[in-house]
Amino acid sequence: MSAERYSPCPACVARAQKNHEAAIIKRDTAYGKITAAEYADLAALIKPPNPAMYTTYAEYFELYLRAGKVMISYSAQCSRCDYKHSFVREEPQPPVSLTEPAEPSA
Ligand SMILES: [Zn+2]
Repeated sequence: MSAERYSPCPACVARAQKNHEAAIIKRDTAYGKITAAEYADLAALIKPPNPAMYTTYAEYFELYLRAGKVMISYSAQCSRCDYKHSFVREEPQPPVSLTEPAEPSA
């Protein structure tokens, strides 16, 4: 089954953000302790994470009516890490009115 959609993996994006923040701290702590060239090299490596680089989260979903219930089935899994999520929900269909609908006025 192929994925309905690929989205940025929430876990991969969160880890990238954490690594980004750690790199900023490393750069800031190194200030004055390394040469200006080394500091510039360190600073050049720091770029905010781009969620589009982590579109490894394959999502599968179905939505359908069966036996008076709306069924929602969702599952997703990252191909890069072990993050995943799945659930099935059912929602009762509203009662059906047997009163004929009014004719549209001319
Ligand atoms: Zn991931």
